[in-house]
Amino acid sequence: MNSQELLKNLEATPMLPHYTLASLDITSLYTNILVKETRAILANILQQRLIHPNTQQELLKWYDIITKQNYFAHKEQIVVQHDGLAMGAPSSGLIAEIFLQHMEHSHLPHLTNKHKIINYCRYVDDILLIFDSNHSNIQEILNDFNSLHPKLQFTAETEKDHTLNFLDISIHRTPTSIKTAIFRKPTFTDTIIPFTSNHPAHHKYATVKFLYNRLENYNLQQEYLQELNVIHNILHNNSFPFGPHKHKPPTHNPAKQVVPHPKQKWASFTYVGRETSYITNIFRRTELKISFQSTNTLDNLLTHKHHTQDRFSLSGVYKLICPDCNKMYVGQTGRKFSARYKEHKIAFHNNSNTSSIAKHLIQEAHSFGPMSNVMQIVHCHRKGAHLNTIERFHTHTEFAANNHLNDPQTIFPNAIFSTLIKAKQP
Ligand SMILES: [Zn+2]
Repeated sequence: MNSQELLKNLEATPMLPHYTLASLDITSLYTNILVKETRAILANILQQRLIHPNTQQELLKWYDIITKQNYFAHKEQIVVQHDGLAMGAPSSGLIAEIFLQHMEHSHLPHLTNKHKIINYCRYVDDILLIFDSNHSNIQEILNDFNSLHPKLQFTAETEKDHTLNFLDISIHRTPTSIKTAIFRKPTFTDTIIPFTSNHPAHHKYATVKFLYNRLENYNLQQEYLQELNVIHNILHNNSFPFGPHKHKPPTHNPAKQVVPHPKQKWASFTYVGRETSYITNIFRRTELKISFQSTNTLDNLLTHKHHTQDRFSLSGVYKLICPDCNKMYVGQTGRKFSARYKEHKIAFHNNSNTSSIAKHLIQEAHSFGPMSNVMQIVHCHRKGAHLNTIERFHTHTEFAANNHLNDPQTIFPNAIFSTLIKAKQP
């Protein structure tokens, strides 16, 4: 049950002055789920539901494979976890649900009856309880829950000043009703992806959308304006341009829902700035769907990377600039830049035809300068498809500006390059 379902459920719960709010938290849920026991539960469910024997076998085989592939890296060592479910595996939530729903099915009717539990809701490993304090108390309830299964241990918390925080909701009870507000942990900071950050726009607006959706869907009543104010502060502190209704997400229109096209394919682009959007817009009306990834991750920002001091000892794409007319030659090398520079220089002195820049300098009687003046390193990379693309892009750029010394025969039209060049123009 998620927050929104919980709110609907609470609205429908009748309240009396002697009811008490409490929450139970399951300790280390995933690592305490017994794999064999849950397999037996699953096998039993499949049999009871008269699932086709072949499908039953297939599902149990699936279960065995994913529960056995339970290893992770810790301090550069691969560790195998012998029981319990893998943290972070998409299947773990589902398997834990099978186990917990089975436990609830077997024991909850008895427990709710014994302790006069008025309301029981669970979200993964968090349980909300409303019980009748004339009939029971939280210690007795906790003892009973802890004796359900040796691996299943709970911690309990009860209301303070008639208020209990559960998930992202602060639940306050009056003698006869329940009032809710949005709860933020004491560790909450108002940091979201800042508007100025180099991220795809829809990544940035995802949080904004979430905040406004929650504001509208939580039925906040008198807390509404206060929450709206919090959202405005968050947006302001993260440099979002401010307008009273600017960020309100479009209301959900079920008729507009996109039916996935059978031929639809996804491609992932590294987001480097607005230019990336210009490129991906080309595919807007095609069957290709675009997702973005970012290279400025915390891992990349926080891990120290060593840089070679002398860039001319690396390989990659370079430009050679004519000091007299500023025309450019774009080239790539898999060896050192400095070695390639020497070759161009020798070609110039020997009047040989092996270098386009040397040819230009000789024809126009322009001069050849020292490496640090005339050679510009564009991109360091080893030889390969990536480097070829970068070379072609820079050749294309100089060609478009009519500033190139490369052989025009080697330059072909390219829609992506043209879009990028147009997007980069001021
Ligand atoms: Zn020149």
